[in-house]
Amino acid sequence: MPSAVEPPLTTHVSAILPTEPLLLMGAGPVPIPQAVAQANGMIINHLGPTMDRVIRNVKEMAAYAFQTRSRKIIGLAGPGSAAMEMAVANTCWPGRRVLCLKSGMFSGRLGEMAEGVAADVTYLESEVGRPVTAEQVRAALSKARYDVVTMAHGETSCGVRLVDLPDVCRLAKEHGALTVVDAVVTVAAMPVPMDEWGIDVSLTGGQKALSTIPGVSLCAFSEDAWRAVERHPGPRPHWCYDALRAHRFWGEQQYHYTAPVPGVLALHEALRLVVEETLERRFHRHEVSSRAMQAGLMAMGLTLFAQEDVRLNSVLAINVPDGVNSARMRAHLSNAFRVEISGAFGLNVVRVGQMGEQCRSHNLFKTLYALGRSFCSEGAKLDVATGMAALELGLTGDQDDFED
Ligand SMILES: *Cc1c(COP(=O)(O)O)cnc(C)c1O
Repeated sequence: MPSAVEPPLTTHVSAILPTEPLLLMGAGPVPIPQAVAQANGMIINHLGPTMDRVIRNVKEMAAYAFQTRSRKIIGLAGPGSAAMEMAVANTCWPGRRVLCLKSGMFSGRLGEMAEGVAADVTYLESEVGRPVTAEQVRAALSKARYDVVTMAHGETSCGVRLVDLPDVCRLAKEHGALTVVDAVVTVAAMPVPMDEWGIDVSLTGGQKALSTIPGVSLCAFSEDAWRAVERHPGPRPHWCYDALRAHRFWGEQQYHYTAPVPGVLALHEALRLVVEETLERRFHRHEVSSRAMQAGLMAMGLTLFAQEDVRLNSVLAINVPDGVNSARMRAHLSNAFRVEISGAFGLNVVRVGQMGEQCRSHNLFKTLYALGRSFCSEGAKLDVATGMAALELGLTGDQDDFED
C-alpha cells in the first residue's frame, strides 16, 4: 500500500551545505581541528573497556582545564545551557535562596533556571555594559541570607567580563553560600582556577574555547557543592541532568543513558590538544590574538561596546557604525567572504569570537579584512589597511603560536 505521505522532493532536502566551509568567527560554534572532526566521525560501544578509558581520560584532562583537583566532573549530552541546568538544578530547590548576578542574557538565564526549580531568586543587576561588582555583592549579602550565588564569568551577549569574580567567590564563601559559575567562554581561554578562586560549580560547553562540537558539555563540582547535591531533598527535577544519576556513568562506569559517543570522543581529542598545548601557552595565544584583533578593529575606525577594564577577550562586541544595517553587513560578509560572525540580542553590535581555533593568524587576517570591507560596502568609512597593519603589529613576535 502506498504511503499517504509523499516523499519530499530531493531538491528540497539536498544541497544545503555550502560547497566551501564557512569560517565560523562568531560567539560559537567555532572551527574544530581535524583530529576532533575525525574523532567525531567514530562510534564505539558506550559501555565497555575502551569507553571506560576514554571517560577516565576526559575527567583527568577536564580537571586540568577547570584547574581543579576535584574528580566530581560530569559530562553531559546537551548544550552549554544543559550544563547550566545541571549546575542549578542540583544545588537549588524550593526554598533555597539564590542571588543571581545579572549583566546580560546568559548570567540572567541562571536565575531563570533557578526559578524553574522553585528557588527564591533575587536578581542583582549591573549597569548596562558593566559587570556586577564585588561591592554590590558585599552589600547584597549583608542585607539577606543566600544559599547560592550564580554568575557568568564571561557575559557573551555584551562582551563583558566579571572582573571581580575571585572577590565575589571569596565573599560568597565567607557568607556560607555556594557559587555557580558559567565559565562557558572562559575555560581554556583564560585563567578560571576553580580551586584557587573557590568556585563550587564551574561549567563549560564544547563549542567555545575547547573547540569541539556543540552538544557535549562539562560540569565540575567542588566537595561543598557535591554535599549539597547529595542533600537535595527531592524530588529531583531532572532525570538526565541529575548529577547523582549521571555520576553512575561518569564515576562508576555504569549505565545512565547512552552517552553521545562521537561527541565524547571529539571532546577527548579537544582536551588532548589543550593538554598538549598547555594552559599557559593557550591563555597566551588567546590573549595576544584578542588584543591584536581589538587593536586592528579600533585602528580601522570601529569602536568596542565594553570598556577596556571590563572587556571580555573571548567575545568582542563591536558597535555598528551609524547608518549601517548590521544584518546586511553580515550577509555580505558571509556571501562575499565566507566568514560568519554573530549578531546581537537587543544591542546594536555585532560579535566576533576569539576562542580556540578562531585564535589563529590566518583566521584573524581573513576575518578582519572581510569585516572591514563588508562594513565599507554598507556605507561605513573605515581605514581597512591601517587596521590590518595594527593586527599584524599586534601579533609580531608571537606569530609562531598562531600557526597550527
Ligand atoms: C554559549 C554560551 C552558553 C551556552 O550556550 P548553548 O547555546 O546552550 O550551548 C552559556 N553561557 C555563555 C556565557 C555562553 O556564551
